[in-house]
Amino acid sequence: MIKDIDNLKVKLAAFLEAQRPLYTQGKVADYIPALAEVCPKSIGACVATINGKVVGAGDYQVPFSIQSISKVFGLVMAMNRIGDDLWQRVSMEPSGQAFNSIIQLEWEKGVPRNPVINAGALLVADVLTSHFSASKLAFLSFMRKLSHDDSVYIDCHVYESELAHGNRNAALAYLMKSFGNIESEIPEVLSHYFTQCAIAMSCEQLANSLLFLANKGIDPVTNEVICSPKDAHRVNAILSTSGMYDQSGEFAFSIGLPAKSGVGGGVIAIVPNYGVICTWSPPLNSFGNSVIGTNLLANLAEELGLSIYH
Ligand code: GLU
Repeated sequence: MIKDIDNLKVKLAAFLEAQRPLYTQGKVADYIPALAEVCPKSIGACVATINGKVVGAGDYQVPFSIQSISKVFGLVMAMNRIGDDLWQRVSMEPSGQAFNSIIQLEWEKGVPRNPVINAGALLVADVLTSHFSASKLAFLSFMRKLSHDDSVYIDCHVYESELAHGNRNAALAYLMKSFGNIESEIPEVLSHYFTQCAIAMSCEQLANSLLFLANKGIDPVTNEVICSPKDAHRVNAILSTSGMYDQSGEFAFSIGLPAKSGVGGGVIAIVPNYGVICTWSPPLNSFGNSVIGTNLLANLAEELGLSIYH
């Protein structure tokens, strides 16, 4: 797909410069006050391939709050830990609701629609807190291992800010507990979830750390099995149908890649058998997805013919 890597570098930089002025078209998340402190003009993009090529542009080496992108890693950890039991407690359907919606959870008796909306990610956080003696440390170690970079860190300022403004996530967790679908104590679950969301990573680190999902579960650098090919397929399927929240249908329709966004402005997209793209620009659209990040993915997918539906 990428035949000429120098050419891609030029193209990526040009796409980025064309998008740069459009940061006013979205709004930086402020329901977690620490996220509102980020510069709205930040912009970065990185393409990493399973054969070891990395091409970046703009702020692609600047760490940002990964937020919901952490849900992808949590899901892999939980699948590895409890296997198919996970799917008794969370479904794999698109929600058709906002990422932090409560209403559907009540109708569906505390079983979240999928693991990448907030309710589902809190359920996964419960699996991790109840199956790891030190789940936060296990999570951070997993991120460092996958990115081959021990400098990956937890941004404590973002953590504290989300903890202080996490009432909606607390409501989701307590509602699930009332239906018997959460094992651990809620403060412990929330603390784990906010910790994983508060991890800071750059586009380059994120792209590198997700290469296993483009490579049937195997880390292409170390050849270590991170998850089974079946689970890599399942994660990619969930990202295709639900990763961009209630814009997932439109994203599949126009871009056609498994992807996950976070309210920190990051978006990752998996290109099976090829590599990973990560973009970062903090202003979000009404669905909670980065405006510029989505545009950049559209540019790249079209330029390189990346859609999985071709
Ligand atoms: N920590 C955020 C929350 O729970 C994650 C949401 C997101 O990135 O979409 O609200």
